[in-house]
Amino acid sequence: MNKIAFITGGTRGIGKQIAITLAKNGYDIAVNYRTENEALINTKKEIEEEKVQCLAVQGDVSNFEDCERMIKEIINKFEKIDVLVNNAGITKDMLLMRMKKEDFQEVIDINLVGTFNVTKNVIQYMMKARSGRIINLSSIVGIAGNAGQTNYSASKAGIIGFTKSLAKEVASRNILVNAIAPGFIETDMTNILKDEVKEEIAKSIPLKRMGKVEDVANLVKFLSSEESSYITGQVINVDGGMVM
Ligand code: NAD
Repeated sequence: MNKIAFITGGTRGIGKQIAITLAKNGYDIAVNYRTENEALINTKKEIEEEKVQCLAVQGDVSNFEDCERMIKEIINKFEKIDVLVNNAGITKDMLLMRMKKEDFQEVIDINLVGTFNVTKNVIQYMMKARSGRIINLSSIVGIAGNAGQTNYSASKAGIIGFTKSLAKEVASRNILVNAIAPGFIETDMTNILKDEVKEEIAKSIPLKRMGKVEDVANLVKFLSSEESSYITGQVINVDGGMVM
């Protein structure tokens, strides 16, 4: 029986690559999407080309009832979830002076409360199975801060606290919980930056390039595998050396 991985926000960017990398390694995949579109259809096709099963579940991670329903759909089909990747996330950047209360709230609701909503509904099944891996997407901005991102960095720092606390709660059940802190990874999220800004950022990175989605997905693969069975409660940077 294949292992089952559930990836939130998995139809583009880092989440899509995580889904494909795990599919290539023989996992059946449950992938969450918010709205049905071409990206979803392509992602599903690419996953199924790896000769594994793919279940797409629609829902907004900031909505608790959506998360409850999505997890039930996954359990109905696969009967278990071995790996949960809390990847869905957004930015709404603005200096605090001009940031709207709604934009602070929405980023916290999707990035941080969304991570709670999904994990809360998954954990009971991992507890019963006495095994599981939870991998949360944080950011180096949650560690080092960044002007214009008080909302985003607060949400990503919150994810680090959530990860460490949960790791302590569930270690005795053989459930390992870790966070990944990417630096600048080339995706739609960072494509909103102007080319000059991206070049400047690349120059400031010790490894002199932006990260690729594969750089993050390969770490997820490792954190899902038996090779990482003595690692929990950690935050691992994938940032080309930006934050040391
Ligand atoms: P992206 O914008 O390309 O993809 C994010 C995905 O999340 C999309 O599929 C989107 O539909 C989904 N999503 C957003 N809100 C959702 C909601 N409410 N419910 C369900 N799905 C929702 O972003 P990405 O660059 O691939 O980032 C993935 C994760 O990695 C995010 O958590 C992000 O904060 C984190 N991250 C990215 C970078 C980077 O440089 N790209 C750096 C650090 C951390």
